[in-house]
Amino acid sequence: MSDPAPDAPLDPPPPPSVPLDPPLPPPSASPPAPAGGFDLARLLADRGGERYELHTRHLNHQLPRMLRTIGFDKVYERAEGAYFWDADGQDYLDMLAGFGVMGLGRHHPVVRRALHDVLDASLADLTRFDCQPLPGLLAERLLAHSPHLDRVFFGNSGTEAVETALKFARYATGRPRVLYAEHAFHGLTTGALSVNGEPGFRDGFAPLLPDTAVPLGDLDALERELRRGDVAALIVEPIQGKGVYAPPPGYLRAAAALLRRHRALLIADEVQTGLGRTGAFYAYQHEEGVEPDLVCVAKALSGGYVPVGATLGRGWIFEKVYSSMDRVLVHSASFGSNAMAMAAGLAVLSVIEEEGLVARAHATGELLRSRLAALVDRYEFLREVRGRGLMVGIEFGRPSSLALRGRWTMLQAARKGLFAQMVVVPLLARHRILTQVSGDRLEVIKLIPPLTIGEREVDRFVTAFTAVMDEAHAGGGLIWDFGRTLVKQAVAAR
Ligand code: PLP
Repeated sequence: MSDPAPDAPLDPPPPPSVPLDPPLPPPSASPPAPAGGFDLARLLADRGGERYELHTRHLNHQLPRMLRTIGFDKVYERAEGAYFWDADGQDYLDMLAGFGVMGLGRHHPVVRRALHDVLDASLADLTRFDCQPLPGLLAERLLAHSPHLDRVFFGNSGTEAVETALKFARYATGRPRVLYAEHAFHGLTTGALSVNGEPGFRDGFAPLLPDTAVPLGDLDALERELRRGDVAALIVEPIQGKGVYAPPPGYLRAAAALLRRHRALLIADEVQTGLGRTGAFYAYQHEEGVEPDLVCVAKALSGGYVPVGATLGRGWIFEKVYSSMDRVLVHSASFGSNAMAMAAGLAVLSVIEEEGLVARAHATGELLRSRLAALVDRYEFLREVRGRGLMVGIEFGRPSSLALRGRWTMLQAARKGLFAQMVVVPLLARHRILTQVSGDRLEVIKLIPPLTIGEREVDRFVTAFTAVMDEAHAGGGLIWDFGRTLVKQAVAAR
């Protein structure tokens, strides 16, 4: 028998000598509980009490140390909505929402149900070589809120959403430099750190990316940098998380026009401000005519359960980054688009819509801010109440009367931000309300409660805050004893 001609069709392969395995039946929708030895409830019952010691030994040891110092070393046992409960059954009002991830409050039944459904469905998730329906559906639903954008990349956190935007902007424009606002916060991975406006976060991690800070709201400074011709993008939080500072009205629109003229991109970091937090779906939408080229979303999209991040962008940017089949994995993440995260996101967007949470955040925010603003004339230490929707900043400042000024100066000389700390501590210790100082050395408290809070929570907060302010203005008592402790600690830490 002669060899076949090179272009002759090949014979079909012979049948395999070993028969192929017969197909396995698919798993039932709800598999029976395994009989394995892992028992979460038992583990927590046996060792939950070691939580602070375990953290000290194996994780960031400064966290338990800091919590003990300010009396925040609580043991919370349960949580629902805007409340936690400790082992004695005492309730705590959450005005922090896990730094904003608990936009719907804790354990929202719709998100919980969606996650149970994903687990029960035994989906073929993360095969990596197929296209699952949930990422496409979540992208479609997200993009409906910013119709000028076309595509989404799903990652696992806010900082990754920012990394993605920085990479895409640099690749799409072919330029290296990114501008950011002074005091900005965009996350703590190395790229996001390069656009961080606080030296305290950056120091010791250089060299970072070639990036330049511009003062928030300063269009001249922005144009000066753009004229150099090497700027890929400006990244900006429409309301800054650190200090709750917003640029002057009209800034974002004018900045967007300048960027366009210089062929650079606008990146809106909506990781904290997005999904209704400020009383608009995205905070950039408060200003008419602003259409960012890239938008970063995370935090509340997780429903508080599953880490997720999303970078939304114009089609041409994605088409450039993924310009050929060879580049299909040029930017990807192993856990990106996983079914739990996608289902959580879809459930969150559906709750935001069904419960009218954007309008609710606007109305409750107005109520909270107006009640707090009414206190500014009453309390010398209270300088300003600002923000939008349920992102509220309460700023303290130097009092006018001599007696109180001495106390303020004592705190300021030790460390800026101690007065705000002195307010946050009794709010938790005596009134069982969790808040935070809005950034290092800032005399600002930030309130970012779940968007589901209502009049009852506003009342509880304003009543407690008034009591703490009364005590601070009396010039003595426990609050000032604690102030002196803070001063001693600040001095010792130098
Ligand atoms: N961008 C902004 C505006 C943020 O507030 C944060 C976190 O606070 C991030 C990015 C980083 O998000 P993550 O902590 O999920 O990485």
